[in-house]
Amino acid sequence: MTTAPAKPVRTRFAPSPTGYLHLGGARTALYSWAYARHFGGTFVLRIEDTDLERSTPEAVQAIIEGMEWLGLSHDEGPFYQMQRMDRYREVVAQMLEAGTAYHCYSSQEEVEAMRERMRVAGEKPRYDGTWRPEPGKTLPAIPADRKPVVRFKNPLDGEVSWDDFVKGTITIGNKELDDLVIARPDGTPTYNFCVAVDDWDMEISHVLRGDDHVNNTPRQINILRAIGAPLPLYGHLPMILGADGQKMSKRKDAVNVMDYPAQGYLPEAILNYLARLGWSHGDDEVFSMEQVCSWFDGTHLSNSAAQFNIEKLNWLNNHYIKQADDERLASLAQPRMLAAGAVFDGAPALPAVLALMKERVNTVNELADAAMLFYRAPQPDAALMAQHLTDAVKPALAQFAGRCATVAWTKEALAAMIKEVLAANTLKMPQMAMPLRLIVTGQLQTPAIDAVLQIFGRETIVARLAKFL
Ligand code: GLU
Repeated sequence: MTTAPAKPVRTRFAPSPTGYLHLGGARTALYSWAYARHFGGTFVLRIEDTDLERSTPEAVQAIIEGMEWLGLSHDEGPFYQMQRMDRYREVVAQMLEAGTAYHCYSSQEEVEAMRERMRVAGEKPRYDGTWRPEPGKTLPAIPADRKPVVRFKNPLDGEVSWDDFVKGTITIGNKELDDLVIARPDGTPTYNFCVAVDDWDMEISHVLRGDDHVNNTPRQINILRAIGAPLPLYGHLPMILGADGQKMSKRKDAVNVMDYPAQGYLPEAILNYLARLGWSHGDDEVFSMEQVCSWFDGTHLSNSAAQFNIEKLNWLNNHYIKQADDERLASLAQPRMLAAGAVFDGAPALPAVLALMKERVNTVNELADAAMLFYRAPQPDAALMAQHLTDAVKPALAQFAGRCATVAWTKEALAAMIKEVLAANTLKMPQMAMPLRLIVTGQLQTPAIDAVLQIFGRETIVARLAKFL
């Protein structure tokens, strides 16, 4: 699909609210969204909540929150299938009327028995058509007290074929397909039927979804044909495998999108990562969502399963952290730091600290943890202190402390002053930098000492030095 589609592009994301927004679902949503944006179309959110046992309002909320966090805004919806029951019933009635569906009075047990017979005979188990009306056929007597299901009158011959824009042409023989139950004895419609009616009513032009739905597509196409609906184009995305090459599972993989903000990932990193996981634009690895929308035309979608790679996600997250506004990073890091006991009163401004420390971190959580050194009283280990604060170094540090009172408080001036003190005392940089770090921060690993000193400010440095000299 390289050319612009003829009809207005309308895509949808149609999650079943049975848990949380899954990484694979988020990628489907992203691709559907980007495709609609690319063609100036409409992106619809539809909640497929007809499985009453597994659907929950919390899960709906979790999906909507996840989409919002990612910034995948929908133009229409959310539409809830449970609120469309009248419409499904109406279409079932129309199909019964038109003869494209029929009442079937076979009991569950009878259907099971016919399936078993076929299995034994080495055939594909399916409904045997007992109640399927055909010209000249006499149907059995309607059993008393039994409520019928409604079955779709699937074509008996021929095949269903579609040009999947991820997988190429897929063809399934109608003989492979059952006369699907579209309404249960209590009148409630079934899954594939609802999807077909919705895609019709919502005028969906392109369906992008996981390839676990490939088997549903021929059934939905047949129903759409039977109700006289235009067919959308379909693209089925291969699944995302875990880092171990196996199916992702919540036991071993972070599959819930909303686990990522909690772990300190930025939405732009997740989006970039997901965009590239199954789609490519040349050799590009880093792209904004504006670029994705301008490039995402349904081509260059990968037909093989993608494998989750946390190193790559971390690399992207580091990239976006480096790019991120420091005020924004501060608002993300602060709650975690407060929980860890950070004291912000009288301490350096958090955005400046984060700017200094963000080069090498993979997550905002790592950044918050690293920044803690500016927000808690230093408690240098006594043994380490004895090791680094030697008699040879003390006079130099005393000089340094003395000059702190008057030196211009810039990184450059502080660096120059340290150099002069080192030269005057014939010391090497680490000999002074290590005890200085310990005294000022309580730890040996810090960003460049001149930058650390500068950010703490004259008063704090002078006070902390005074305790040891
Ligand atoms: N509700 C289905 C799911 O969550 C998606 C259906 C579709 O995209 O057609 O897997």
